[in-house]
Amino acid sequence: MSLKIGFIGLGIMGKPMSKNLIKAGHELTVFDIVDAPQRELEGLGAKLAGSSREIAARNDVIITMLPDSPDVEQAALGAGGVFEGIRPGSTYIDMSTISPITSKKLAKAAETKGVKILDAPVSGGEKGAIDATLTIMVGGVQEVFNEYLPLFQVMGKNVVYCGETGAGQVVKACNQILVAGVLEAASEALVLGAKAGVDPAVVLKVIAGGYAMRVLDVRGPLMLKRDFKPGFKTKLHYKDLGIALSAGSEYGVPLPVTSLIHEMMGAMKTAGRSEYDHSGIVTLLEDLAKTEVKH
Ligand code: NAD
Repeated sequence: MSLKIGFIGLGIMGKPMSKNLIKAGHELTVFDIVDAPQRELEGLGAKLAGSSREIAARNDVIITMLPDSPDVEQAALGAGGVFEGIRPGSTYIDMSTISPITSKKLAKAAETKGVKILDAPVSGGEKGAIDATLTIMVGGVQEVFNEYLPLFQVMGKNVVYCGETGAGQVVKACNQILVAGVLEAASEALVLGAKAGVDPAVVLKVIAGGYAMRVLDVRGPLMLKRDFKPGFKTKLHYKDLGIALSAGSEYGVPLPVTSLIHEMMGAMKTAGRSEYDHSGIVTLLEDLAKTEVKH
């Protein structure tokens, strides 16, 4: 079914996402504060609008793909914004990565206007946006999610309902912790390897093809079951990080994140948990946050 969609924000992600919506037969009106991508989309059949307000007034589904919370607030709630033009019964989907607090603020405004709303941040980068293989994490009312699932499937492959308003943004934040953590840890490994005279291509081949990249698949489900029976004991991982830190100190390579995790694994011993599987490190954070990771 062809929908009348207004798309705001035609940057690295928004431009290919809107191209995929056009390809799927939807009727698109687009807006960006920069002219060049608007013209490119116009060349593919999109209509242009002069403001976010106009986009909202002329369409049934409004999507924003903007940099940050203040940009979304301005485009949605500011003067000339989406909520000045939007009609009751329309749907507003924000696909930017923003604070879940802002998503909740938008949901309040939507409720006042009789508008359906979803927060739907994505991961998968520019390539995922071009190939329509994005992961899309959706928060809001489940029935609204069900209604727009086919629309999301035009832009992404792994479309997941995460829970009430803001839940999509919370899951995206969780995802970003992991991506950043893996990149920082990989950087520490590569720099240590290089300075100690090992070919970085060899280090990458070993770490990318090995247990390091599968650890979440293997241990994640057990963590949810709170099964910390050791496959690999925390005390042995503590020892290994000590070896890495000594090598770092010998070769003059600071390893800030390794050193932090070493301290955490040391604290597992103090807590009487050094025989737990190394994934039991989660229990220390649970203690600090006074919560339990349980499914
Ligand atoms: P970008 O900076 O390339 O694009 C943002 C676009 O929004 C720009 O074209 C800009 O001109 C436009 N814009 C800004 N304010 C506006 C306003 N008030 N009205 C209309 N247009 C406005 O950013 P991006 O990489 O496309 O990222 C968009 C969102 O997606 C961000 O929240 C980002 O964190 C998230 N994201 C990006 C990636 C990635 O790999 N680039 C991956 C996943 C998620």
